[in-house]
Amino acid sequence: MKPRRTCIACRQVEERTDLVRLVLSPEHEVVVDYYGRLPGRGAWVHCQHECIEALVRRPATVARALKHQVDVADLGAWIVRAVVRAVEDGLSLAAAGGALVGGHDALERALEEGRIAEVVVASDASERTVGGLRRVAGDDVPFVVLSATREALGTRVGKRSRAALGVLVAPASTHLLRQLHRLRNVGYVSASRSRGDG
Ligand SMILES: [Zn+2]
Repeated sequence: MKPRRTCIACRQVEERTDLVRLVLSPEHEVVVDYYGRLPGRGAWVHCQHECIEALVRRPATVARALKHQVDVADLGAWIVRAVVRAVEDGLSLAAAGGALVGGHDALERALEEGRIAEVVVASDASERTVGGLRRVAGDDVPFVVLSATREALGTRVGKRSRAALGVLVAPASTHLLRQLHRLRNVGYVSASRSRGDG
């Protein structure tokens, strides 16, 4: 059986993979132990906006779990940052495993063939480009706008610039898809969109 933990915000018992671990650092600060590897007293919370916000409103809950007074005013931002970093790791793994599809025509074709689980969009992709892809994708494929630029996404697949990358349904994209799912649940709002084309 997979290890289960209790979310200190809502008291539901879940598999560890659905939760994020918080630990008390030696300086008595809360640290997001995203991959659950740090030693020390820990507490678990759902990687979801509602539960995280509940803890920000009730710091005493965290203090009780960690047995120390703590400041969790910025907990939401810390967790979002940790998820964004994990998305970056996921993009690297997926790219190395050949599970990312870039280039408008190739992506459109892969969408039509139902091979794309999700689409990540550059912060500066044009609405026209994204709108066109959305029409091909239909309602079942989520689109996530990242804070990465077209240039940054392009670099992932060895190209100069990519407005969007499709994430293939493939073993190499498992980590990335899990992190993108978390990114949606934490209520991530990407950097403001600017006009451009790609
Ligand atoms: Zn919860």
